Amino acid sequence: MSRTPENPAPGADWTPAAPPRPVIEVEAVHKTFGDLHVLKACDLTVHAGEVAVLVGPSGSGKSTLLRCINQLEEPTAGRVLIDGEVQGFQPDPLPDGRWQQLTAAQIAAQRSRIGMVFQRFHLFPHLTALTNVMEAPVQVRGLPRAAAEKKARALLERVGLADRAEHYPAELSGGQQQRVAIARALAMDPELMLFDEPTSALDPELVSEVLAVLKDLAADGMTMVVVTHEMGFAREVADQVVFMDEGRILERGTPEQVVDHPQSERLQSFLASVL
Ligand code: ADP
Ligand code: MG
Repeated sequence: MSRTPENPAPGADWTPAAPPRPVIEVEAVHKTFGDLHVLKACDLTVHAGEVAVLVGPSGSGKSTLLRCINQLEEPTAGRVLIDGEVQGFQPDPLPDGRWQQLTAAQIAAQRSRIGMVFQRFHLFPHLTALTNVMEAPVQVRGLPRAAAEKKARALLERVGLADRAEHYPAELSGGQQQRVAIARALAMDPELMLFDEPTSALDPELVSEVLAVLKDLAADGMTMVVVTHEMGFAREVADQVVFMDEGRILERGTPEQVVDHPQSERLQSFLASVL
């Protein structure tokens, strides 16, 4: 007998399976810099709790796509929605069809829902690991220092650096600095995280400690887009792998499809260069 709201199984709550909720929707996004057409009709949907891994040769537009998602760049055409909300513009066009831009404060509020981690860690060199993580919640959110410190210590613990809280960036390895950068992004309670080649600047022996943090976040249900050449990570963690080439998304699918059964010659030769 099937379980329905009228006829629940004994002792069990009946909950219908929730449909997947899109968190990131990139719709026909183009980006040009002068004559350079860097993104060409890019579409991407990432649902809540999914990990999308973005791969492609240098210069293919991966960073620009991430930067359009968090409004570090404005798309030349097309749009980005986060949780169904158009980024950078009022939800509806004016009667004359023009889209009205949000204010700087409204854009800042939208951006604060998105955490970003870069290849270079960009920590404040004059602040300890702890104060690096505390800074934005205190300065931007007005969180009291004691509460911010408690939260920052918990986040440093989460990335395995509880014992490095009082160290300055120069006293930390690259992998440790990147883990502080991740904790710092998490301190703003982002709904989603963007990672732009988070391990590319690291010595090979430090890559796995950073990937372990990303895996932990993914297992915890964080919605993420990760630009990386680490195909082992893509295989293990990605819900979808997206291959970009010359500003276009050429292939996308499960790791099985994209990494193990590449269709285009472009992707085949790209994989041969990174595997
Ligand atoms: P990827 O991250 O895949 O290496 P990028 O998105 O960084 O690629 O760059 C894609 C192309 O856009 C490159 O040719 C790059 O030189 C160009 N580009 C990126 N940002 C700018 C910018 N602000 N002004 C001009 N050209 C840019
Ligand atoms: Mg890049």
